[in-house]
Amino acid sequence: MGKRRISIFGVTGSIGANTAAVIETVGLDAFEVVAVSGNANIAGLADAARRLRAGVAVTADAGRLDELRAALTGSGIEAAAGASALIEAAGRPVDWVMSAIVGAAGLAPTMAAARTGATIALANKECLVAAGTVFMAEMSRSGATLLPVDSEHNAIFQLTCAERDCPIERLILTASGGPFRDRSRAEMAGVTVAQAVAHPNWSMGDRISIDSATMFNKALEMIEARHLFGVEPEQIEVVVHPQSIIHSMVGFRDGSILAHLGPPDMRVAIGYALCWPERPELPVERLDFAALGRLDFEAPDPERFPALGLARAAMARGGVAPCVLNGAREVALDAFIAGRIGFLDMAALVEQAMERLDGLPEANDLDDIFAVDAEARRVALELVKRFAA
Ligand code: NDP
Ligand code: MG
Repeated sequence: MGKRRISIFGVTGSIGANTAAVIETVGLDAFEVVAVSGNANIAGLADAARRLRAGVAVTADAGRLDELRAALTGSGIEAAAGASALIEAAGRPVDWVMSAIVGAAGLAPTMAAARTGATIALANKECLVAAGTVFMAEMSRSGATLLPVDSEHNAIFQLTCAERDCPIERLILTASGGPFRDRSRAEMAGVTVAQAVAHPNWSMGDRISIDSATMFNKALEMIEARHLFGVEPEQIEVVVHPQSIIHSMVGFRDGSILAHLGPPDMRVAIGYALCWPERPELPVERLDFAALGRLDFEAPDPERFPALGLARAAMARGGVAPCVLNGAREVALDAFIAGRIGFLDMAALVEQAMERLDGLPEANDLDDIFAVDAEARRVALELVKRFAA
């Protein structure tokens, strides 16, 4: 059998590094790595490209081409830079693509990869939140297979693979509750970026870690689940489960609930997406239930975690409201990281942006989505100035 051709977008990130690790565990010789991408971390990109023997390494930053070329000297690996180079690389024919760029920046390259009909392992949840309907339409048009990598959705996917013909009654997304699960609202108002980044169970990129602290991450995942599994918003529940051992659950019409359990380690989800319908052998922790002792559950507090309510509001409004939520959230996150607004301001700002941009027309294509995303960012930036004042 020939080698499987694969590409990894966002190889310098947390998911990207775990993907490279899984590929090396499974055996690099089984793969031909066509393209890898990064952004600011040129040394990391060149290093990953060499390790994976990639055909082309692309940085999204157009101004860093010379630096990338220099870092790849003697490797025979092609260097490319900028937004259009990234889209061109994403359009090169492969069998499997890891989409692990963070934020709406992942949208255009993931769409380009989808158009080729490749299997898309999707970590970039922003694709489905900002452009769910347009993205899913492109997936079915191109006949591409979509495999969820986000741990909750990968868990649900694994469960539905076992129960292919049974309609889903409810999806129960588990949430760790993040580092501030037990903090009061008053305490949350003053937390720092360093405290928000320190996730209790998962090791992830900084941005998704802060999104876990606000529970915006779970808010995005509710919208993501809706598109991936074709369920109504009312069928999606969220329960706080501080140990992060159950990665999500599916309820069926006979009252049965199937749960997916495992160590909180993204290599499991990535490995399943890479080897599906088979499972790779992985050197991850094996659960010891006696040592765990107990698994706890509690309802999320809507006062301290308003992001979940905003996701419900966005789904109820429909149309481009989730795209507005996402664009405003990315701007609010930047402003919090920059120390311009407080932790609780993030959700307040997103809520105001959604109110200001209520009733925008539906999006028919990616250009419409980009226009709404830009408008959401413009309004959110205005609000940042007001919150910072
Ligand atoms: P990281 O911040 O660790 O990595 C982000 C990647 O995107 C890096 O390769 C980065 O390049 C690249 N990147 C950043 N900005 C741009 C840009 N403007 N254009 C192109 N590339 C860019 O993120 P994670 O790996 O944590 O997350 C990646 C995606 O996966 C996110 O959508 C996240 O929500 C999702 N996800 C992550 C999980 C995790 O465990 N980490 C779990 C579930 C979902 P560079 O570093 O070179 O600047
Ligand atoms: Mg997740």
